[in-house]
Amino acid sequence: MQTATQKYEDVRNYIGGKFHHNNGHELLEVISPLDGSLLSKAPLSTAKDLDTAVAAAKAAFPAWSALTVKERVDVLYKYRQLIVENLDELAYLVHIENGKTIGEATAEVSKSVELTEFACSMPQLVQGEIMEVSRGVECRIDKVPLGVVACITPFNFPHMVPHWTVPNAIALGNCVILKPSEVVPLSAIKMAEMLKEAGLPDGVFNVVNGGKEIVEAICDNEGIEAVSFVGSTKVAKIVYQRATSNLKRSVALGGAKNHLIVLPDAHLGMTAANVAASMSGCAGQRCMAAAAMVGVGKIDHIVAQICEEAKNITVGGNLGSVISKAAKERIESYITEAEQAGAKVLVDGRNATVAGKEGGFYVGATVIDHVTPDMRIAKEEVFGPVISIIRAKDVDEAIAIENGSNYGNAAAVFTQSGAMARYVMERASAGMVGVNIGVPVPREPFGFGGWNESKFGVGDITGKSSIEFWTQPKKTTIKWNPEAWTNWMS
Ligand code: NAD
Repeated sequence: MQTATQKYEDVRNYIGGKFHHNNGHELLEVISPLDGSLLSKAPLSTAKDLDTAVAAAKAAFPAWSALTVKERVDVLYKYRQLIVENLDELAYLVHIENGKTIGEATAEVSKSVELTEFACSMPQLVQGEIMEVSRGVECRIDKVPLGVVACITPFNFPHMVPHWTVPNAIALGNCVILKPSEVVPLSAIKMAEMLKEAGLPDGVFNVVNGGKEIVEAICDNEGIEAVSFVGSTKVAKIVYQRATSNLKRSVALGGAKNHLIVLPDAHLGMTAANVAASMSGCAGQRCMAAAAMVGVGKIDHIVAQICEEAKNITVGGNLGSVISKAAKERIESYITEAEQAGAKVLVDGRNATVAGKEGGFYVGATVIDHVTPDMRIAKEEVFGPVISIIRAKDVDEAIAIENGSNYGNAAAVFTQSGAMARYVMERASAGMVGVNIGVPVPREPFGFGGWNESKFGVGDITGKSSIEFWTQPKKTTIKWNPEAWTNWMS
């Protein structure tokens, strides 16, 4: 129901090519973090809804998986074009439901275009293997789809993170159930509409909205073969354990605490700009965001320049909102606690507001110096536009601090010395490492995925790794000529 105070119609589940009415569902308000206004309401679905979606996906699987990869990606070529044509509208949706700036939202949707292009290249990438193992006898491996699979996604990239998995999974012949974050369900609905418009057969892509109950039902449902998850480490552990204990394959990406190691010879302007952009982009709500800068030796000049950069970041201008009131309070409490423990707040983003958007949830860019590794802010994921500066006497101490984190998503080193860069690169305990780059996201066909408590499961979630994840190898041994005589195989 759309009203004067609700911007969009209620979100509905998309199952078997149709949007289903929210009969008797509990509805959750979808609030824009930009100004606190009501955008929509989304259903908290039940296991019964999931059963319906699994049945629809199962029914679609035989015909969809029987197509060649090339035939399947024909749909994705059209879908990619629709994203391009609707880029402004899609970016606006991301902007209002997530709170990031229009520029950041546009970059996010553009990344979905790139991810879809990767899926379109599957016909070139998904080769099987074939070998003549004996005269007249061949072994071949085909990569065949799994069946019905599920993708569970977080709030911070409502458009891009579903595109990490969905295009690849369907290009490879699977039928997908997407469970978007209940906080940002609007982008997924648009995705369903556009995949349908591109010609995707009904049931190949389904969206089931909801929270914990539906995630647990996904992990338990016998009709689902694989579960990908992106979100916090706490939930990633639950999903990975529950899905795999129910004999599904799973890859579950968790939270992060990314360290940027800055050496005294680092290029001043470039380093300061990168540190500030990494910690504040998307209001620090990126799993690749810089959380801690470990400064080695004399780096006061770099810290001063980072503060200058941070002061030029304006809330409601080039800095969007954080996702909720609870997130704002959590981030600010980390800053206050660090200050009370002896850290020095050089640039303070607490109590930020935007004129005319007083109902929004904003935290300004914050720089905190003299954080020590034992402080809570140094250990836990803050997920806000805050950089904690930890001082280290030498590079080995800096590496030890980085290695001491339970997480291992990203790490970076800033230096003009190739030898030092390599020294750190080889020792950092993270799946994605940057040299003079603050947000070291690998581009396709490389995969995206961290180490330690930032990821559970084998392989990465995107790139070439995803081909292994969304398919299973079928090994066939063939004697083409029945008369052929082999001395080792009857
Ligand atoms: P979240 O873990 O709270 O939610 C993620 C998904 O899990 C949502 O769909 C949600 O409905 C569901 N969920 C929440 N609580 C649950 C529970 N108790 N049981 C079962 N399901 C539950 O994460 P979020 O707040 O939406 O996203 C932010 C987190 O995601 C951050 O920790 C961030 O670092 C992480 N993240 C990681 C990556 C990565 O690549 N490693 C990428 C993006 C975000």
